[in-house]
Amino acid sequence: MEIRRLINGGFDTVIVPLGATEQHGPALPLSVDSIHGTETALRAARILGHTLVGPVVTLGYSPEHARFAGTVSLASSTLAGIIHDIAESHARSGFRVVYFWLGHGGDNPVLQACLPDLEAKWPGCHVTGLKDLSGYVSETWNKIPLVAGIELSSSGSHAGEFETSMMLAARPGLVRMEVAELGNTAPFESIEKTMMSAGIEMVSANGVLGDQRPADAERGKLYLDHLARYLAADLDRIRTERGGRV
Ligand SMILES: [Zn+2]
Repeated sequence: MEIRRLINGGFDTVIVPLGATEQHGPALPLSVDSIHGTETALRAARILGHTLVGPVVTLGYSPEHARFAGTVSLASSTLAGIIHDIAESHARSGFRVVYFWLGHGGDNPVLQACLPDLEAKWPGCHVTGLKDLSGYVSETWNKIPLVAGIELSSSGSHAGEFETSMMLAARPGLVRMEVAELGNTAPFESIEKTMMSAGIEMVSANGVLGDQRPADAERGKLYLDHLARYLAADLDRIRTERGGRV
């Protein structure tokens, strides 16, 4: 009843964070991508107004982490089915914009394959999401650590300072800094192919790309806010293109 009242009152946009359940090195829990995906979505919703955050999808597409116990990876077809069913549910509820947000970059190929079919499938509801993952990464993950005085080799692309700091800001009780470790600090582009084809353990024995040890809660808050502003700007642009606040 409360959601119906909010939708009728103008809360016509819903952000759906896509997360993952995958290893994030010794210091972090399996739920990192689901947690920062949700945290950034909530912050963006507050910036935008008239926006709700739907239930996070806590399982994603993570085959490259499969050799680490605890990782739960969906088949891409399963994830695509979940994305479809969530979009349909929110469209039926009366939301006019459904935006899928990537807490886990590995979900990107599945999301992009789904969006063309979903965009106009339900009359009156525009289904969309983050479409430019590399643009997003270069404007956020690869920029804000440098502003904060952290080298990208430390901030890392997976379970490094960037994600560890965000977790210290969002869920400090789930971080074990006493076992934080250094991982592979090579540029992501130089190891991506091996990692995606043979598994992350081929490039990092502890599953970390970056360095968990210099993580800091204050920087994590800065990172979360920066990601949220990017998300809010992207969604605001989509709503503007569709003729003012949808
Ligand atoms: Zn992650």
